[in-house]
Amino acid sequence: MTTESTDPVISVTDLTKTYGDTTAVERVSFEVYPNEIFALVGPNGAGKTTTVEILECLRTPTSGVAQVLGYDVGEQSRRIKQRIGVVPQSFHTFDRLTVHENVALARQMYEKGRDPDDILERLDLSEYADTRFATLSGGYQRRTGIAMALVSDPDVLFLDEPTTGLDPAARQSTWEQIERLTDLGTTVVLTTHYMEEVEELADRAALLVDGGIVAVDTVADLVETYGGDVKLVVDPTEDQRGELEARLRSVATDVYQDDTGNLVGIFEDRYDAQEAFGQLLDIEGDHSIELTGAGMEDVFLQLAGGTVGSSGELR
Ligand code: ATP
Repeated sequence: MTTESTDPVISVTDLTKTYGDTTAVERVSFEVYPNEIFALVGPNGAGKTTTVEILECLRTPTSGVAQVLGYDVGEQSRRIKQRIGVVPQSFHTFDRLTVHENVALARQMYEKGRDPDDILERLDLSEYADTRFATLSGGYQRRTGIAMALVSDPDVLFLDEPTTGLDPAARQSTWEQIERLTDLGTTVVLTTHYMEEVEELADRAALLVDGGIVAVDTVADLVETYGGDVKLVVDPTEDQRGELEARLRSVATDVYQDDTGNLVGIFEDRYDAQEAFGQLLDIEGDHSIELTGAGMEDVFLQLAGGTVGSSGELR
């Protein structure tokens, strides 16, 4: 970030976008602060791409105000474009050029920026520098996109669905790369329909449903406020069932036995549950314990009345 101030990097007020009869985004308001990872999360068609593409100055708002780095997206788009990086949902670049050539080409489009070799090193792409884009795996193609967006040294980086279509290993390593971007002082705005991605990466999130924001807060506070109860699931050995159940009853709000014979303790507070987890783990024996929920999945269920499937559909 160029400044240590806590003035928002992005400020959106009552933003609305209609396409004919379709209202894609309706009176959306949120702020993004310096150096955070902010997620716009929601199912397909919720208005995530429309919102970020307005911030990227690619679409014009129907009404409302959207500012990036203090500049208005309508009137000062040239200034904004010089200071942002964008990796679109379906990122593609020159197939026949190598990773290094693609990143160097992106660098040439800007007056100032970073050394392509440094960026490749930072994103663990150096060993693929001479590999043609077309022959890279999906994960490395996406990473090349991030390198090309970062080479201009942007203040804000927009990532639209950064891990959609990637296998779990590629997704995990992409998350690690994105997490490290804030070391560069870059504010990251991403869109996603993966709740796990939000939990893993985002400091704060806005939940979008049908073009409107239903909640915006830190991920921890969203889970705390809307996530509901936390459960400790204990799979006891028969000879220890009584002891474990008694211990669980002494700390949990409620205890029941599920269909498979596991003991389930309900906690209203995650910290109480974590403490109980430690206590039960200290009891010698062959029992296993798992701490489950609450997570963004529960938050979404509570606020949107459904969950988001792996392809982004609201179920
Ligand atoms: P996805 O992940 O599927 O891209 P999204 O949350 O990004 O979903 P948007 O792409 O912003 O959602 O779409 C929001 C709504 O606006 C949808 O109903 C979509 O069909 C509609 N829409 C988006 N772009 C256009 C357009 N150019 N013309 C007409 N309708 C559009």
